This record gives sequence, C-alpha cells and structure tokens, in this order.
Amino acid sequence: MAAKYADVIIDISHEKVDRPFQYIIPQELSGAVYPGVRVRVPFGSGNRDKTGYVIDLSDVAEYPLDKLKTIAAVDDKGITAEGGQIQIAYWLKRQYGSTMIAALKTVLPVKQKLKQLEKKKVTRCIPPEELLQAAHLCKEKHQTAKARVLYALAEEEVLPQELLRQKLNVSPSTLQSLEKQGYLKIETESLYRNPVKHMDGSEKRVVLSDVQKNIIEEIVSDYRLGNPGTYLLHGVTGSGKTEVYLGIIEQMIVMGKQAIVLIPEIALTYQTLLRFYKRFGDRVSVMNSTLSQGEKYDQMRRAKAGEIDVIIGPRSALFTPFPKLGVIVVDEEHESSYKSESMPKYHARETAVQIAAMHKACVVLGSATPSLEAYYRARRGEYKLYEMTSRHGSSMLPDVYTIDLREELKKGNRSVFSRKLHELIEQRLKRREQTILFLNRRGYAGFVSCRACGHVMKCPHCDVSLSEHNNGMLICHYCGYEEVRRQNCPECGSKYLLGFKAGTEQIEEALHKEFPLARVLRMDADTTRTKESYEKILSAFADEKADILVGTQMIVKGHDFPNVTLVGILAADLSLNQNDYRAGERTFQLVTQAAGRAGRGEKPGEVVIQTYQPEHYSIVHAAKQDYRGFYEEEITYRDFMRYPPAAHMLAVLITSKDCEAGEALGRIMTDTVSALCACEEVYQKAQLIGPAEASISRINDIYRHVFYVKHEDYQVLVEIKDMLESFCKDRELRNQAVQYDFDPINTY
Ligand code: ADP
Ligand code: ZN
Ligand code: ZN
Repeated sequence: MAAKYADVIIDISHEKVDRPFQYIIPQELSGAVYPGVRVRVPFGSGNRDKTGYVIDLSDVAEYPLDKLKTIAAVDDKGITAEGGQIQIAYWLKRQYGSTMIAALKTVLPVKQKLKQLEKKKVTRCIPPEELLQAAHLCKEKHQTAKARVLYALAEEEVLPQELLRQKLNVSPSTLQSLEKQGYLKIETESLYRNPVKHMDGSEKRVVLSDVQKNIIEEIVSDYRLGNPGTYLLHGVTGSGKTEVYLGIIEQMIVMGKQAIVLIPEIALTYQTLLRFYKRFGDRVSVMNSTLSQGEKYDQMRRAKAGEIDVIIGPRSALFTPFPKLGVIVVDEEHESSYKSESMPKYHARETAVQIAAMHKACVVLGSATPSLEAYYRARRGEYKLYEMTSRHGSSMLPDVYTIDLREELKKGNRSVFSRKLHELIEQRLKRREQTILFLNRRGYAGFVSCRACGHVMKCPHCDVSLSEHNNGMLICHYCGYEEVRRQNCPECGSKYLLGFKAGTEQIEEALHKEFPLARVLRMDADTTRTKESYEKILSAFADEKADILVGTQMIVKGHDFPNVTLVGILAADLSLNQNDYRAGERTFQLVTQAAGRAGRGEKPGEVVIQTYQPEHYSIVHAAKQDYRGFYEEEITYRDFMRYPPAAHMLAVLITSKDCEAGEALGRIMTDTVSALCACEEVYQKAQLIGPAEASISRINDIYRHVFYVKHEDYQVLVEIKDMLESFCKDRELRNQAVQYDFDPINTY
C-alpha cells in the first residue's frame, strides 16, 4: 500500500533539514512520491509555491488532518544530485536504523559560507643538488620544517601546498620564508591549472605486471559493458594494489568519470598521497579530519561542479556528490574505522556497494587481510576475487618466531620481553638497525588468565572470555552468566591467575631498564593527542632518531621504514580474549599486519610473536602469513555459531538513566521479538540472545543493556528493527534511548 503522507524539506542546508514539514500525498501522485523526489508545495501562511525534497514517507499523520496541506506536483525532470543524496540517506536510515535527520546529516555537508579556498602549488626555483645542500644546512641549524620542504622539493619539482601543510607539517609562514630566500615560489590555482597536469609528466611510470594489467583490463571492460561489479584485491602490502587503483581511475577519467578513494586516515601518508597527486595533478582533492566544515563543504561543491575527478579520504569521503561516479576504491577494507560509531552505524564497504549500484559504478576493495565478510562474498561469487601473491622488488617475507610465554615463566623470566626478543633487540642495537614493538591496546578488557598454563576464564555457555568486574565477579556479556572470581587456576591450581594490564608506558620503562642506551619513542593515545604529534613521531622514527618505537596502532600502510628489521608483538593473544566473536579475526589481522612491517627494505626482517596461546589458529596462521588457512577455520566457527558473515546479527543497545527500567525495556523488547518470531514463519529461524548488561554496563551514569538477534536474511532483521522502532515510538520513551547496530564490529 502506498504511503499517505510525505515529509518535505524546503531547502537542503543543515539549519532547515532539522525542520521537515508533513504533507498529504494526493491520490493521483501516489507512487510517484518517494524519498529524493522534488515536489512543489504550498508553503507558509501565504501558501507560496515552493520547491522541496521528499525525505520520508509515513502512514500516520503527525498533526490534525485539517492542518496538513497537500503536495501540488512532482518534478518529473529526474533525480537531482541532492535527490540522490537524500536517497542514500534514506537507504542508510532503513538499512542501519536512525532518524532521517541523522542520516541526512551524515550524507550532506554542512552548508557554510567560506571565502573561496585557493589551491596553491609550490615550485622549486633552484636545481635539486643545490636544494639538497640547502636542506642539509637547515638540518644542521635544526630548522627541520624547512629541511623537510627542501628535501621534498629536491625529489619533486612541484608539490601542492596542501600536501606540504597536511602531511609534512609545514606552516604557510615557513613556505613564505623559503620563498623570500629564493628557494621556491608559491602560485595560486589559476596558474596551477594552466600548465595542464603539470605533475603528470614528471612521473616515472612503472611497467605494470601482467597480473596488474589483467585486473585493470577486466574491471574496466566489465564497466564498459555496463556490467560493473565489486572486486576484491587480496594482496600483501607492496604487492601492487595501489598501482591497480591508479590504473583503473586513470581510465575512468578518460571516460569522463570520477573516483572516490577511501583510505583509513591513519594510512593517508605523504608517500601515498604523492602518488595520486603525481598521477592526477590538481584534479585530486584530499579530505581529512583536519579540514574545517567550511573546507569540506567547499570540497563537495567542487566535486559537484566537476572541478575535481578524484577524492581521497576516510569514511565520509564516500558521500562526495560526483555527477558521474565511475569507481569507488576501498583500500584496507578490513579496517574497523570503516564502520561508523554513531547512528546511523553504517559500514563504508556495504554503503559503497549501494552507492555504486545507484551510479552503475564499480567497487574495488583491497586488503592484505580481507575481512571475513569480503572474502566470504568473494568465495560465493558476489565479488570477483583477485589474488596478488608476490611482492614487487626483492623484499622478502620475514622469519617468524612464535614464543610461548608460559615457557618463559617456567624458566623464571618475568620480563615483558622473552629471551629471544631480548637477544634480537640487543643485536639490532649493535647493528644500528631499528625495532618496532607492538602492544595491542585493545586487550585491556579485563580478561583473566593463568600465567602458568595459559588457561583463560571462559563462559561455560558461550565461546567468550569472562570479564572481571570490580565486585569480585566474572561475567559473560553475551548471556549474563556469572561466577565468583577465584584466586587459583581451575586448570592447574597455580596462583598466577591474573587480570592482564600492561600498557605502553610500562613497556617503555622496561626498555629503559633493560636497554639503558636505547633511544625509545612511544606512540599511543597519550602521545598522539594531536594529528601533528602522530606525524612527528613517525617522521622522527623514519629519520632514525630512535632505535625502538613502542606503540599501539602502528600498523601503518604507506610508511616504509627500511631500517626496521625486527618487529616484536608483545602479547599477541590479548585481542583473543575480548568477549567478542571477531577476536580471532582481529588477532590474525593485527599479527599479520604487524609482522608485515619487518624487512621492508633490502635487509631481511625478523618477527617475534609472544603469546600465551601459541597453538591458537589465528596465531599459527598469522605466523605463516597464511590467510586462507585462517579463513577456513574462522568461517567454520562463524558458520557453526551463525555469526556474521555466515548469518546477520542485529545488536540493540538500550541506554537508560535507571538501571531497572533499562533492563525491563530490554525484556519487553525481546519478548516482542520472541512473540513475532513465534507466529510468523520467516521469523522462526531468528535467534535471540540476551538481554544482558553491556560489557561497559554504565557510562556517565547511563546504564547499558544489550540484546542480539541473528538471522540469515538481513532484510528480516531490518523488519524486526522497524517493528522495534515503532514499538518504542508508541511507548514515548523518556529516560531511555535505543540504538541499532547491524553486524557489529564490536559487541557491546
Ligand atoms: P600495495 O598497494 O599493494 O601496497 P603498491 O601499489 O603500493 O602496493 O606497490 C608497492 C611498491 O611496488 C610501490 O613502490 C610501487 O611503485 C611498486 N610497484 C608496484 N607495481 C609495480 C610494477 N609493476 N613494477 C615495478 N614496481 C611496482
Ligand atoms: Zn593454570
Ligand atoms: Zn555466556
């Protein structure tokens, strides 16, 4: 049955988006009115004729009927760019659960007046050899920012100012001062534009391998034949995936199409961006979180006006309103930052597929450790899979040692460094080579394990570890099971049954104690409060100002540290003990990617994996860099447990000021779902888990309860979500709120 009422917004800008107006859909227009369509409506007290956009449909009138006006006409000129964005917002709202307003705010840039931004380029004025000399001089005088610019310009004749500012941390005043000294000149866009694609010519092209050529040809030819698909490039870092993206985008531009390239913010490095600038010159724009709302809005405007062909950025770059989108690239598609943490909790990979379908564009996913989702779909033929097995050049895969920490304890070693790791660090210090030590920060969740035998305290009903609570209990966050925290290991009786807490600071201290002469840099949430500090630490390490880098999130694509020949993963299984069905996948990814940081240059690398569970399949396969072996075991587990991607899972999070009320609401909602599932056949296969307290049961005095619904069919879960949404709307919840999360990345 067609909807009776439509919500219309008159002007698409954020201020007004907050105020939709409900109109009656007249009989003769029924079916022609849907989200994204432009309509003409009588507006205001004078009933002026206005154009607006339909953003939502309803069967229920929000106001008395005599107060509602009727839509006058539908604009039949097709869907505009804004209309397309509204359609995406509507899809987000339906698919992931949120208000339409929240969905629109996700998709539409904030409209803001801004003086036109100038795109500037920086060109060198003296020959590279002289620049190098000047750079050395600056370095000696500790003018490091100037030195960075001069080194960069010695390599590249022309560079965009935004790249120097964003990625080399150079202020405009530094550039101006260098200009005064006669080393470079700064020019604005109009000049930047004319010598067509200036940077383009200076690029030394690699000769593509047959594998690369073949992939590009197939993808582009599918596209030309009107049959665009979704493709997964599975290849280790350095196997040439970026060259493939560049090749595809190049052909898209020749066809007059545009490209969106998603790269996690942490991997948007100078080197990676430079490759795009060199290939596509001023037709590229980079989005990142340091841009102001006004700058983002300006970027969107440029995209819509056809002034740029390629946008590179994190998740939100997906909503760039290109008029003729040809391809969306999602690099490092397994990264959890592709999932939005606020409503609508959309996943960029799935949303990219949807947006591409609306534009008849193709989607290219790339990863060294594909998400289970992507590989599963590739295996089922939904995505086309390309395996890029070898690395370019001579760099070889590193030697890997897996160290059993239980044995270390038996041998009396209480240090956070195993004897092997200690020995290898010492060796690197002597050889003046560098070491990266990786600690998985996410493992703080309070799991309890036995240091003597490795036994982890687990729930008897679920395959998850129990969390230690301050009240002396161990609790399962999936089913609510709890038991008293014991002092001795139930397996071997040892008294080393301990919660795990080891931070990067402790590691740093231990390093100073055991290797007093080593120069250590630490990178974690504390030392990287600002974007600059993050870049600073990395460039200091790249400049070999330290021997050892300790950190939590250093698995950085694009940063090549050729002098790093040792990577230590201090507690590889920390992430295994999260009460989370993705724990194995996350561990495999972390260990594989961390190991991949060793030996990227000429020198061979070594990797030490320290773990209490050396026999765990995610560690065993990661040590061998064996993705497929890992996948087969992991998918068997997911299949057996009906976890995504084998089935779909909806998490419903209830936040509440009053703990009992939250719990009660959770029970009423699950009862409603149970009742529905009992009577309708398609729903019968749904599986309900909970309600239970969330693993963080209270944040800011708000209590959190959670339950999960699993089903093979995503649309069934969408229907259940819709049902719950209207159920909550009818109850007019006051001190409670409900959030939905489909196929959650983290369980609650
Ligand atoms: P990935 O994106 O998989 O990490 P890249 O495309 O960045 O891989 O390639 C890694 C390195 O190998 C880059 O320096 C790139 O220029 C080089 N490279 C890629 N393909 C080729 C090729 N066909 N011939 C020579 N060098 C190549
Ligand atoms: Zn034990
Ligand atoms: Zn349980």
